[in-house]
Amino acid sequence: MADDAFAEQVRLRAAFLKEQGLDYGLARQVQARDAVEAESTGRSSAAKGRRAVVPAPAHADSEEAKPRPDSWPGEPGRALEAIRAWIGDCQRCKLCEKRTHIVFGAGDPRARVLFVGEGPGADEDIQGEPFVGRAGKLLTDIITKGMGLSRAQVYIANVVKCRPPANRDPEPDEVEACLPFLEAQIEAIRPEVIVGLGRVAIQALLKAPVQITKFRGTWTDYRGTAMMPTYHPSYLLRNPGAKGQVWKDIQEVMARLGLPRPTKS
Ligand code: URA
Repeated sequence: MADDAFAEQVRLRAAFLKEQGLDYGLARQVQARDAVEAESTGRSSAAKGRRAVVPAPAHADSEEAKPRPDSWPGEPGRALEAIRAWIGDCQRCKLCEKRTHIVFGAGDPRARVLFVGEGPGADEDIQGEPFVGRAGKLLTDIITKGMGLSRAQVYIANVVKCRPPANRDPEPDEVEACLPFLEAQIEAIRPEVIVGLGRVAIQALLKAPVQITKFRGTWTDYRGTAMMPTYHPSYLLRNPGAKGQVWKDIQEVMARLGLPRPTKS
C-alpha cells in the first residue's frame, strides 16, 4: 500500500478511536508523525487537503514511560512503592504540564477500606496529599467522626494523580492513562470495601456510565471487591442536604466491616 494511503488509514482509525474515547496513544502518535512529516517536507497538512497539523505536545512522547512490571511484591507497602516507581515523573498525559505534585495516595497499605476520589484539587496539588482541601476536611470528618477511624487506618486515592486544570472533570484520555495505577493500587491493597466517591470515580472503575443519584447506596462489584458508590464530598459542600444519604451509605460500609458506631466524646 502506498505510504500516503497507509498513513491516511492510520489517521482515520486514530480519529475513530479518539471519537470513541478509546485510544488516545494512537491519536497522539499520528499527530506527532504529522508534525514531523510537515517539518521535514516543508508541506503543511492543509496543502495536502487534511486538517491543520497540531504540534505534538511534550507529553506525547511516552517512550520514556516505564512499562508496567509483570508482578508486584506480595507485601502491600512494597507493592505500593513499586507502583509509585512505575509512575515515575509521569508525562503520560497532558495533566503533567501544569501539576506541582503527583498525588499518589495515602494511608495504610493494608487498609480494609479504600476511598476513591476523582483527582487532586488545588490544595492536593500543592501538598501532594489526597483530600486535604475543603472536600478533604469533609471526607476526614466522615472517616474520623463518622466511622471512628483515623485517616492513617484507611487508604485514600484518586482516579487521576495530577490536578485537572480549574478542577474540571478528567478527560477520557487522562483517565485512560492514569487508571492502571489505581487498578494496581487496588490489587496491592486488596481492601475489603471500596467507597467510590462521586460519578467520575465510579464510572472510571466500572468503565460504564452511571447515574449517581440512582446508583449510590447500592453495593456493587468491582473485580470481586464490594464497592459502595456514594456522593463526592464536593457535592456535599454544594448540597449539604445530601449528607444524610452519604451517612446511610457509610453506615452500610461500617456494618459490612463490623465497625461499631463511634461514641460521642
Ligand atoms: N477531590 C478529589 O476527588 N480528590 C482529591 O484528592 C481532592 C478533591
